[in-house]
Amino acid sequence: MAQAATGSKETTAAKAGLPGGYAGRLLRVDLGAGRAWSQPWTPQEMHDYLGGAGLGAKILWEEVPPEVGWDHPENRLVLATGPFAGLPVWGTGGLTVITRGAMTNGATSTQANGFFGANLKFSGYDAIVLQGQAPRWVYLLIHDDQVEVRDAAHLLGKDTWETQDALSAEIGLAGHMLSVYSIGPAGENLVRFAAIQGDYGHVASKNGCGAVMGQKRLKAVAIVRGTHALRAADPRGVIAAADEIAHDLKTNPAARTLYEYGTLPGVVNLHGIGALPIKNYTTSVAPSDVDMKTWEAPALRQGFDHRGHQCSACGMHHCHMQVLPRGKYAGQIVDEPEYEGWSGAGWTIGLTDPVAVSWLNTRIDRACVDVNEFGWLCGWVMECMEKGYITEAQLGFPLTWGDAEGANRLLDLLSRRQGLGDLLAEGTKIAAERLGGPAAECAIYTGKNASPRGHDHRARWDELLDTCTGSTGTLETGPPVFPTELGLPARINPFDPEQVARQTAGLNGRRHFEDSLGACIFTTRTTFENLCRALSAATGWEVTRDDAVRFGRRIGAMFRAFNLRCGIGPDKEFPSKRYGSVPVDGPAKGQTVEKHWEHMLDVWYEGMGYDRPTGRPKPETLRALGLEWMIPAVWGTK
Ligand code: SF4
Repeated sequence: MAQAATGSKETTAAKAGLPGGYAGRLLRVDLGAGRAWSQPWTPQEMHDYLGGAGLGAKILWEEVPPEVGWDHPENRLVLATGPFAGLPVWGTGGLTVITRGAMTNGATSTQANGFFGANLKFSGYDAIVLQGQAPRWVYLLIHDDQVEVRDAAHLLGKDTWETQDALSAEIGLAGHMLSVYSIGPAGENLVRFAAIQGDYGHVASKNGCGAVMGQKRLKAVAIVRGTHALRAADPRGVIAAADEIAHDLKTNPAARTLYEYGTLPGVVNLHGIGALPIKNYTTSVAPSDVDMKTWEAPALRQGFDHRGHQCSACGMHHCHMQVLPRGKYAGQIVDEPEYEGWSGAGWTIGLTDPVAVSWLNTRIDRACVDVNEFGWLCGWVMECMEKGYITEAQLGFPLTWGDAEGANRLLDLLSRRQGLGDLLAEGTKIAAERLGGPAAECAIYTGKNASPRGHDHRARWDELLDTCTGSTGTLETGPPVFPTELGLPARINPFDPEQVARQTAGLNGRRHFEDSLGACIFTTRTTFENLCRALSAATGWEVTRDDAVRFGRRIGAMFRAFNLRCGIGPDKEFPSKRYGSVPVDGPAKGQTVEKHWEHMLDVWYEGMGYDRPTGRPKPETLRALGLEWMIPAVWGTK
């Protein structure tokens, strides 16, 4: 066991001239040396990088050179908040995880909600930066200035919920007083799409950040709600802006269903436009024996006995735990799936019983894998089994569409890397390529080795383009909230390649800005004006919409430059054959993205200000984003 008191000397120094909303310190932990210390960061750095994704992009660029791959001890794992964390703005308890991820071996920026971020800020830190590899399994306990690297041998093999239960008992705190983010067996065994899960149901899931944590032999980070005060430059201004945001989320049609039901309406809505992924893209139409009325949001919610499960200081009453009402597991408490769960643990694998999906979704969270990556992999294996590309003898058991118990067996197999599970733990692209032949042709992935979120992107070309060109292993623009704020059309033809590419490039930057604030993307579905007003009141800066857009695009350019330095360039910006295929039925039937792909890339590159042949942000783009200092590194010039 190693222990370090990080002290408060630097805190006092850092707080001189500190903008409101910041603790002013980063907690640095070298797991190899068992040492922790605090490091101040400057108000200028806060202004330029905010926190979350911005801070993480800076740290990756400065501290992770190309030879430090995702599994190298010197890779950094950053758990970051932003200036909103801990303030009374809805959805500001979560965290952003930034690292060089195991799926793409490039940048990762992925978010989770809950209590961790607020607890961290109240402990006096804006972020934790982890480096090194522990000589044996450990967990990190943070309690204000006391930071301990503790032995975790007794936690090995436990899933994420069991880990939280065990640490809660050990530390003697629970609920809002102790937030635990951990990895389950999949993270311990370096499954490439392992996630980091916390607060019973919140997951930082993208690009294998859980595998990075596993490689560091870090089983969990437990953080006690701290006692440090947090200052805002204009407290009344923060409250007024927060009230405005809350009012907007409750009344604006673009956000109100989210307020009522979270992402539950996604299933039926997406089915209506052909964007619900069904049975590994073999169809876009629900089976005739499935009544889609049972999949409408009120029915999904009323079908279970519920417990509210809100995140820190958030009034979006959409997160719930639920009790399974029937079947073999009746009475079990699970977390209500987000849309991604209904998709990845359900429709993608042909499972259309909500109770079974809900159960499987929590199994996936507890094992700690990304639910979408698992869904694409499991759906692909099911199709391969149906077509005889993978045999029962190879897998060790039968697996057919919609088989929840079989899917759970597959989850267990790959989480422990047993038998064929060892190959499947590498993710869909690597597994499909190693298997080769016709099996490879029906797998869904990008050229960068990640798989998409839980949509049929053949009916959402904007997300297809964003997923393939993005640098973080996931979506970077998100669904448009108010595109007109950015001078973009409110609506476009979703199958017009020119319009889609312009819109996708035009929206770029907003998500990186949101992910740097320390706020949940469900509570940032408001106007730029509201977000900038809250940020200005929190920090004391005068932040305009143009500042926010420029900030977000700066972070995107940094992630891109990082990936290019790692050898991840435009040659990897394509969908796999099945991912870019033509839907055979449903509302998007016959729409062919493939023939428009190169043109869409041309238009997107132009809109981003990136060089099409090399993928690099152009010098004038870097200058306009305040990144002129990167020009020599990106362009090899002085
Ligand atoms: S909107 Fe939902 S997920 Fe986001 S912070 Fe609030 S309760 Fe949590």
